Amino acid sequence: MAIERTFSMIKPDATKRNLTGAITQMLEEAGLRVVASKRVFMSTRQAEGFYAVHKDRPFFGELVETMTSGPTVVQVLEGENAILKNREIMGATNPANADEGTIRKVHALSIGENSVHGSDAPETAKAEIAYWFSETEIVG
Ligand code: UDP
Repeated sequence: MAIERTFSMIKPDATKRNLTGAITQMLEEAGLRVVASKRVFMSTRQAEGFYAVHKDRPFFGELVETMTSGPTVVQVLEGENAILKNREIMGATNPANADEGTIRKVHALSIGENSVHGSDAPETAKAEIAYWFSETEIVG
């Protein structure tokens, strides 16, 4: 199986509750390696740009507001089948539907405050990594 990279975020609802370490530990225990990480306070413009694909959805305004309400930890994760593996350990978007033991089941508060983001496909992973990191910031 190929070694992949994916993009991950620990969202403000989680950083505000001091869960950066707990969530990172769950990612590492799932076999993912953090090869880049930084803490950012997203501007409205950065949040709107990152989530541009959702700009016509009814929850867009709330999403941008939530993502600019506190610090976010942006990360690049590396490992076998990393994109799918990360989606599995994250759990369903709505924590009420997330499987036992997933990050969202354990830590998320609601669909809007669901603690983590993870790329859903190789093309989005590439674009999302490039949105936040330069090549020299990624140390495999
Ligand atoms: N979201 C929301 N309400 C919804 C659907 C999505 O607030 O009805 C937010 C939620 O934080 C989610 C993000 O928008 O994580 C992006 O939605 P997507 O469908 O891409 O879910 P994800 O890939 O994060 O599971």
